Amino acid sequence: MSDLYLRIVNTPVGKTAAQSLGLPAPVPLKRLKRTDQPFIEGDVLIGAANGGKAIAALGATLGASAATIHHASGSDRLHDSAKAGNKAQPMDLGSEVSEKFSALVFDATGIRNPEELRALYDFFHPTIKKLGTNARVLVIGQNPASCRKAPHAAAQQALEGFVRSVGKEIGKKGATANLLWMAPGAEKQLDSSVRFFLSARSAYVSGQVVRVSKSEPASATNPVAPLSGKVALVTGASRGIGSAIAQTLARDGATVIGLDIPPALEELEKVTGAIKGKALACDITDDKAPKLIADFVEEHFGGVDLVIHNAGITRDKTLGNMPEHFWDMTIAVNLSAEELIDEELAKRELLRANGRIVCISSISGIAGNFGQTNYSTAKSGVIGYVEAMARQVKNGVTINAIAPGFIETQMTAAMPLTIREAGRRMNSLSQGGLPVDVAEAIAWYCSPASGGVNGNVVRVCGQSLIGK
Ligand code: NAD
Repeated sequence: MSDLYLRIVNTPVGKTAAQSLGLPAPVPLKRLKRTDQPFIEGDVLIGAANGGKAIAALGATLGASAATIHHASGSDRLHDSAKAGNKAQPMDLGSEVSEKFSALVFDATGIRNPEELRALYDFFHPTIKKLGTNARVLVIGQNPASCRKAPHAAAQQALEGFVRSVGKEIGKKGATANLLWMAPGAEKQLDSSVRFFLSARSAYVSGQVVRVSKSEPASATNPVAPLSGKVALVTGASRGIGSAIAQTLARDGATVIGLDIPPALEELEKVTGAIKGKALACDITDDKAPKLIADFVEEHFGGVDLVIHNAGITRDKTLGNMPEHFWDMTIAVNLSAEELIDEELAKRELLRANGRIVCISSISGIAGNFGQTNYSTAKSGVIGYVEAMARQVKNGVTINAIAPGFIETQMTAAMPLTIREAGRRMNSLSQGGLPVDVAEAIAWYCSPASGGVNGNVVRVCGQSLIGK
């Protein structure tokens, strides 16, 4: 499960060899070291197209960081935000600056037609080469679905192509580019997403578009333990991504119920024991599983706040060669079980107000994959489920999905070498992700401050070249 090539290529000899042979030279990604570390440091440049609606909110969020903020000249609102107490150092983009930027943040909500897209060029062209390694590009736009005029919708949709292309250009530096599409009036809901996408927590998330809608403002949260007082259910928690999710949610203060199949109980208890959680041995495809889970949650905690449907299996065969039970098992574990568990929890009113449901899809569910008709069907179904449920949830509950790309786990270690190597390299960051990358994205969805993030499918895939 370790990426030997990544280590070799980052030695002086390996670097030279990779360069001369034209091989990919992935940069080691900087991940979170301590929960109290500032979400961003270094020099951050922020700018806005005229009339940007998010700039004050951005100024407030960035003002709470450890970064030195430079404002691109040319917008009154920028200076308003500077007056709001940030460490602003107005900067003329035309001038030469020697420093490397740790982030470029652009409020594009004011762009109302294709001509005004020129603001992107004006801001990024002189600055993009000044991005440091592991840096961040973040663009804030307005959700095109909320734009009444066609030129407005076109210009806002255009941001998607821009950000995805920037991600592909800067990936070789271990840097990422993402887009937040804000609903009108959702400025106050941006904070948790801006923090996530600028931080080391999103090291393996690039080329993503997140819709942020208006929601009840979050009450003040403990920045180091934002999930304290919350109860989380994590399925498939004995190993791999599930074990990382359990540890990350516990790190953020949640009490975790880890669930896995009975044969995995010993491993599961090691995971839950280390985080003072509870272990529940259960096969989620068993007819009695929804009731068993609901009874457990009710008896021990009286309810649950965070439900993470992580358990999953692959049973690969081309369709013509696939035995019936491969199809049935894969759909049951990856899709049907989630729906039945949620239904039971909802029926018995065990999912608490402001609860979070997170499902795990896959890039196979977005792009399809050879030999995975069953798995891709199930993982596409997960996306349909999340999008439909997002329109139905009440009481501040949200539901979102993560679609991992190539993550270094036992599931991917079992792949044949050539397919594994291709999976690792075929993304903008030229490397596989770690289970913690998926877990950090889930922790962001679960934050009480992420109430405006609902119905999204975010890929944790280093911007895989496969699929959208
Ligand atoms: P893994 O095989 O290492 O872990 C899956 C866990 O789910 C195991 O502990 C397993 O025992 C449990 N599980 C399986 N069937 C179960 C059942 N019926 N009831 C209860 N638990 C059950 O897999 P992983 O790589 O950690 O993947 C976790 C999730 O991420 C899965 O949904 C998977 O489809 C998805 N995913 C993984 C990758 C990747 O690259 N690893 C990529 C895309 C999606």
